[in-house]
Amino acid sequence: MKLILLGAPGAGKGTVAKLLTAIDGSVQISTGDILRGAVQSGTDLGREAEGYMKRGDLVPDALIMGIMEKRLQEPDCEKGFLLDGFPRTIPQAEALRELLARLDITLDMAVNIDVPREIILDRLCTRRTCENSDCQAIYNVKSNPPREEGVCDKCGSPVVQREDETEEAISHRLATYNEKTAPLIGFYEKEGLLLTIEAVNSEAVVNGVREKLGL
Ligand SMILES: [Zn+2]
Repeated sequence: MKLILLGAPGAGKGTVAKLLTAIDGSVQISTGDILRGAVQSGTDLGREAEGYMKRGDLVPDALIMGIMEKRLQEPDCEKGFLLDGFPRTIPQAEALRELLARLDITLDMAVNIDVPREIILDRLCTRRTCENSDCQAIYNVKSNPPREEGVCDKCGSPVVQREDETEEAISHRLATYNEKTAPLIGFYEKEGLLLTIEAVNSEAVVNGVREKLGL
């Protein structure tokens, strides 16, 4: 399968990607991973990207597209790929459309994972993290609490709610996501590639994709 995955923080994109790649051996590709990979492999494009990253600057789209072009031609992409977190903007979506046409790759669809807001809030607001930076164990007050409340099972340090996982912070992240992603949803709808799946769990999303692709 050749998919773009769109979904808010907490929508379970990572889990969905894992389940989908297990079906047909496609690979999950995130911009962060391929940038890190290019930097590590020391290619010209990688070295150029490293310069931007070291300065704390955004890597320009043209450079990302160059790295994406190489990545999509690697042998492990033959069975398919899931683009995760890319494209983020309309110019990137347009550049990707051009790139795929040039490489003669046909996208199956852009999957918009639409999880009800209350479920995302519940998933993220119940998360707790071990304060010890060497441990960082993750708990959930509902589904996976530490044995002793507020104390890490592994190292005994305090288990706390991260500042970016309070209800207020998550509401803000969701609003930002919706604002930035809405245009992309419109873009792929116009392209006739959009599949929106409203689901409360990852299995339901995977089933929706399978059904649409006949897998
Ligand atoms: Zn710990």
